[in-house]
Amino acid sequence: MPIATTNPATGQLLKSYDPMSDAQVDAAIERADLAFRELRRSTTIAERGRWLTAAADLLDAERDDTARLMTTEMGKTYTAAKAEVTKCAAACRFYADHAARMLADEPADAGAVKAIRAFVRYQPIGPVLAVMPWNFPLWQVMRFAAPALMAGNTGLLKHASNVPQTALYLEDVFRRAGFGEGAFSTLLVGSDAVDRILSDPRVRAATLTGSERAGRSIAQIAGRELKKVVLELGGSDPFVVMPSADVERAAEVATTARCQNNGQSCIAAKRFIVHTDVFDAFAERFVANMAALRVGDPMDSATDVGPLASSGGRDEVHAQVRDAAEKGAAVLCGGEKPAGDGWFYPPTVVTDLRPGMRMWSEEVFGPVAGLYRVSSYDEAIEVANGTAFGLGANAWTTDPAEQERFATDLDAGNVFVNGMTTSYPELPFGGVKNSGYGRELSALGMREFCNIKTVWVGKGEASAGAGAHAE
Ligand code: NAP
Repeated sequence: MPIATTNPATGQLLKSYDPMSDAQVDAAIERADLAFRELRRSTTIAERGRWLTAAADLLDAERDDTARLMTTEMGKTYTAAKAEVTKCAAACRFYADHAARMLADEPADAGAVKAIRAFVRYQPIGPVLAVMPWNFPLWQVMRFAAPALMAGNTGLLKHASNVPQTALYLEDVFRRAGFGEGAFSTLLVGSDAVDRILSDPRVRAATLTGSERAGRSIAQIAGRELKKVVLELGGSDPFVVMPSADVERAAEVATTARCQNNGQSCIAAKRFIVHTDVFDAFAERFVANMAALRVGDPMDSATDVGPLASSGGRDEVHAQVRDAAEKGAAVLCGGEKPAGDGWFYPPTVVTDLRPGMRMWSEEVFGPVAGLYRVSSYDEAIEVANGTAFGLGANAWTTDPAEQERFATDLDAGNVFVNGMTTSYPELPFGGVKNSGYGRELSALGMREFCNIKTVWVGKGEASAGAGAHAE
């Protein structure tokens, strides 16, 4: 894939970059390694917190230009892009304010382990490679970078090839905020460079947000190299609506949950599983809402849905819809690829889906909803859990007992009841099954790239640690 900015709203190539050479990559890894030693030796959490707060201030001050850049590179609406920048600044402040607590030594029961003192200490592990997607070009990176830098790690970013300018901006923000040379570097390389980078002994771990295909590839490399990897992969999130739900509100939120970010979010609700008692009422409102969304220029504040990020991505979405239609599904709105410049696709609702159709089992990365009718709680759970993914899940019900059951029975890393799935710095984020493993955000995300070190201090007596049975 060329490393280039192409405006998805026009298809116009705006800027391209030569990939970095192996020597340039090696020099960046060396700088990341040196910066790690320096961060570890001579900086405190408080100092790193001041830098991260300075990064937040820069993000806030430069919000509009950064948002315009993101919109130009991957097509999200300018309104959504501005909100993304603000969210990143807030996450930086959150980690600046809370890292000391998250990284504090945790005392253990010394008596139980025959020690004078025993505790857990969280320490950084070194340079971490972050392979990131284009769909939230700032946020996906920040939710790794903010906690990782606060913990004292350094970051090497291999961003998606279609957002190189946002990638370079991120490096620049951290440098200007005070993090030293090499603490956070952008590597302008294609995915073919990932094997070589992760095989370098100075690179200690990796995190990848992206497709299943990329996840399998990097997990193989990490396995071979015995390095930890966190994987945030795709999803086909269910959105279940039960008879007790506020159907109108559910249909409204469903529309946003499906079409946010032009339908290109891993945690977008993609499959709408509706109890037969409220199916018709929900379907009528949902289809009307979807059809009423305004598709167009992402810089226009009246636009709800901008273009998809790539021509290939749009072709794929359209092929999934056509496949369903040709096999007997009903397209209730949308489903036609518009003529003209830009990679636009209309909000689309497809129903009567069956096993064997691509939409039944695949993730659809665009504003296309699958609508399913079910006649019981058990059937809703069966359909909801019936894919290989397990990222987010939504359930709409006002029945407290049913809310509890959904929380337990939905096979997903995130369950949101009466609301749409989103990510918060305060809460862990991640998936199960083919949606990946490991967690981002909260203290748990920060500790993914920490050495969770057990420290045991005794008196040196033979009956305790020294001389006790190994293991
Ligand atoms: P992608 O093709 O997997 O790209 C993501 C990143 O991985 C890019 O930097 C890409 O580089 C790189 N990459 C691609 N193939 C690779 C390989 N074989 N080895 C190493 N790196 C590789 O994903 P996408 O299609 O752009 O993004 C959409 C996918 O990401 C969807 O499935 C979505 O659900 C998922 N996603 C998940 C989360 C989450 O938190 N779980 C969040 C956002 C998106 P190039 O750009 O150079 O190809």
